[in-house]
Amino acid sequence: MSPPPALDLIGVRKSYGKTEALRGISLSIAPGEIVGLLGPNGAGKSTLFQIAAGLFAPDAGEVRLFGMGYRDKGSEILSRLGVMFQARAIDLDMSVKANLKFHGALFGLSGRTLAARIAEVATLLEITDLLDKPVRTLSGGNQRRAEVARALLNKPDLLLMDEPTVGLDPTTRRLLLRHLHAVREQAGTSILWATHIVEELENADRIVLIRAGEIIGAGTPADLLARSGAETLTDAYVALTGAPATEPPPA
Ligand code: ADP
Repeated sequence: MSPPPALDLIGVRKSYGKTEALRGISLSIAPGEIVGLLGPNGAGKSTLFQIAAGLFAPDAGEVRLFGMGYRDKGSEILSRLGVMFQARAIDLDMSVKANLKFHGALFGLSGRTLAARIAEVATLLEITDLLDKPVRTLSGGNQRRAEVARALLNKPDLLLMDEPTVGLDPTTRRLLLRHLHAVREQAGTSILWATHIVEELENADRIVLIRAGEIIGAGTPADLLARSGAETLTDAYVALTGAPATEPPPA
């Protein structure tokens, strides 16, 4: 029997008052698949992430991770999940290592196991010589790498990353993407990452276009190019969504 999807959303709906943030989203991510969730600001990406991460339940629809639901298997799901939300989740005044130790302890890691795991994720993200530095003293890109390292400590089977590249320069962004692909190659991790930067998704296995709370298209980058007749992914995005590639944040 093939393993269940890492993430399976079925008809997920969520409203904030009169605002329908998600209008019946169905999305399945296979083990080891890298899926880019692409949509303008306000499309519902963060809401989808928060629901997938179990922060709150949808108004309707089903959320399953690794074939399980949060209601009866919440702690098992969380032990297999790595998350990176938009808001920084790392303590600026502590060293990178102290942050990683603290987070590892939350997953029940300690002693040599924790030290070995910290060394492993630091090597992967190439931050070994930054481990003793206070996070505050690092560049934005290195802070972000420390956050990714933190999200990987528990060897997650699924990484949920909400705009992990926000505010990074193109070189650092590319480096971070390389790291994420390396994580998938080494550990078979599934990754869902949200962005409104089209070029980031050139190497994704699949791109899911979301707009105004609805999935309006999905396919491999090559599919989207073929379907739109465009030469670049940005042009394909504009052609398929009728939207500018980026929209200003809501006032
Ligand atoms: P994205 O991450 O794609 O920018 P969001 O999920 O943040 O989209 O937002 C989707 C819609 O829901 C937007 O119209 C946004 O204004 C609204 N929204 C998001 N969070 C809240 C909230 N806590 N209260 C009220 N409206 C919200």
